[in-house]
Amino acid sequence: MKFSNYNLIYPNSKNYLLVNTLTGALFEIDSIYKQIIDNNQIFLLKKEDILLYKNTGIIIEDHVNECRVLEYLLNKEKYCSKILSLTILLTWACNFACPYCFEGDKTKGTSAISSYTKNVIKEFIRKMLETNGNISVVSITLFGGEPLLEFNKNITWLKEIKELCEDAGKHFCTSIVTNGSLINPQVMQWLNELNCEFLQITLDGTREIHNQRRVKKDGSGTFDEVITGIKIALSSKTIVPLIRINIDKSNLQYIDELLIYLKNHNINMCPIDFGIIRTENTSISNYDVDCLQEDEIGEILITLWYKLKN
Ligand code: SF4
Repeated sequence: MKFSNYNLIYPNSKNYLLVNTLTGALFEIDSIYKQIIDNNQIFLLKKEDILLYKNTGIIIEDHVNECRVLEYLLNKEKYCSKILSLTILLTWACNFACPYCFEGDKTKGTSAISSYTKNVIKEFIRKMLETNGNISVVSITLFGGEPLLEFNKNITWLKEIKELCEDAGKHFCTSIVTNGSLINPQVMQWLNELNCEFLQITLDGTREIHNQRRVKKDGSGTFDEVITGIKIALSSKTIVPLIRINIDKSNLQYIDELLIYLKNHNINMCPIDFGIIRTENTSISNYDVDCLQEDEIGEILITLWYKLKN
């Protein structure tokens, strides 16, 4: 027997958290157990703990090659034929002009999805459902640009796809990644009708910071519109939006302030996720002065997650 290579131990107030990132197992352990694991001394563990750790992947048999296990799990997900998962770029256009936009300055194309492409996608889904009996779920992520721009022009087509799937006895669901500024009650109703299960909105700081980063084409800030969008989404009581905070050196020190703002404005029930802005994803060549170093990201995220928890 040996300890898994995927075990991580982090200090947690008085004790430690033992996490296995391959299985998701999580235990609170004391310093004695930490020492046993650090020193690879399985023989010092109680029998019942060895059994528990074996059942949860903390301890594995000597012959197990975890890299192969990981490869298997990834391929299983990748080639799983039960879920037909599509990301559809509804438009290249956006009403924002964020400096770090990974889609560039948007001069390449601003057009919305064409009728031709809509038909091709619908026919693709139809053929997949006809030829692959294993598919039980069709999941569509609506992406842009800003996918809610001229969203009304896509509703009929998306509802047709929904009908196509449901007529075939399949579960149809959507998710959407949006800047949040165009959310209104009508949009929420449409999303609800399209079985939207996930709605992600980006908020990069409190008003001053967000307004420097998430700007419109005329340079004006978007904080108030995004907050309004989040509140409308919350009040719909159908989809709890996930707030994504994109971080780099320039907004990192203001995250505390943003979390307090969200708490004070009753937006603290939204799950929050952090996105890392990387140079290669941005449209400006010298953005790297603001990007976090790869080797510091782990520690920074742990600190942020603790702040979130608190
Ligand atoms: S809102 Fe999204 S798509 Fe639009 S400019 Fe900003 S990062 Fe790019």
